[in-house]
Amino acid sequence: MFFDNASTTKIDEKIIDKFKTLNEENFYNAGALYKGGMSSKYLIESWRNDMLNLLGASIGKIVFTGSATEANNLAMLGFVKKNTRKILVSMGEHPSVYNTAKELKDRGFNVDFVKLGSDGKIDFEDFKSKMTEDVDFVSIMHVSNETGAINNIKNLVDYAKNINPKIVFHCDGVQAFGKIKVDVEDFGVDMYTVSAHKIHGMKGVGALYIRSEIALKPIIFGGGQESGLRSGTENLLGIYSLVEAGKIAIDNLQNNYDYVSELKNNFLSELDKSIQLNDNKNIKYYLHSCKDNSPYVLSISFDKCRAETILNMLSDKNIFVGNGSACSSKKRGNRVLENMGISANEIEGNLRVSFCKNNTMQEVSILAKELIDCVSEYIRRAR
Ligand code: PLP
Repeated sequence: MFFDNASTTKIDEKIIDKFKTLNEENFYNAGALYKGGMSSKYLIESWRNDMLNLLGASIGKIVFTGSATEANNLAMLGFVKKNTRKILVSMGEHPSVYNTAKELKDRGFNVDFVKLGSDGKIDFEDFKSKMTEDVDFVSIMHVSNETGAINNIKNLVDYAKNINPKIVFHCDGVQAFGKIKVDVEDFGVDMYTVSAHKIHGMKGVGALYIRSEIALKPIIFGGGQESGLRSGTENLLGIYSLVEAGKIAIDNLQNNYDYVSELKNNFLSELDKSIQLNDNKNIKYYLHSCKDNSPYVLSISFDKCRAETILNMLSDKNIFVGNGSACSSKKRGNRVLENMGISANEIEGNLRVSFCKNNTMQEVSILAKELIDCVSEYIRRAR
């Protein structure tokens, strides 16, 4: 049973079926001048247009990339110039934004980090104090991959553009696209990043939306594909998978949202039931996901537990959840939760349970029961 859907998802069967046809009929290099190449190019351009529409844009550019990590790097490294005065990112960003910001700081740029509130969203007062007239670039994520907290991007963009109308505002929308409503023109963002494999597309494909007026420089050089912004032979199957997964997700956005909310709520009520049963009343947990968060991600900590051990115990039962207490898979601690003011005890015991439309109600009941059994066993052993 898979409950680490914020890390990746399984490719939709419909998409896999179509791969076979595309591989027969459109395996050509989209840069080739003969008929096959031109038809591949035509397909990619039509998907590019669909991608714009899926993001709520009537005009603008889409650059298909080799991952959302690459799209975030392109947005940041492709934008900054010698005369960029100040860069603002949040403490809650995914490493692909946060570490790029740190790299820019190391290269001598003036980079500042906006704090998070205890709810995992941007601390608006801190944002206001740091959002000075000399800020030229902002990158703030839409939905947190750690807690599911949703930032009000439209409000943040409005505020920033009031202070500096020329500011370029980038948003990492990887955990939002296909899960909650995204409308880049309504938000007023200049750039927006998405990833295919979080929404049942293929791994290794991302895209960056770029508003028409924004000029970027490439970070990968070569044959000049993707309007010179991302050289490398176009990944036709991958691009198809991103756009088709986006269409499927957006066509079913509300139904999936309601269903996943029910999964999450059932999981929590089954968890409470399991605690009440079998004398598990000594088990205490904390949630770091508030009511208006994305239901797809749940951050939960068990008191006086080492989450990694619980994760391994569940893994032995073929139940897979995410480990919230890791900055990366190797480094311990958690920058995001620490910044929210969460205690070391809770960080140590933190798990990330993330759902998708393919999970069943029966699965979440089993997860709740097995999770409480593991925590109970852990506490018994630790005594
Ligand atoms: N941004 C966020 C918020 C993410 O959750 C992830 C993946 O975990 C990424 C960026 C990176 O995506 P990709 O795996 O496509 O590089």
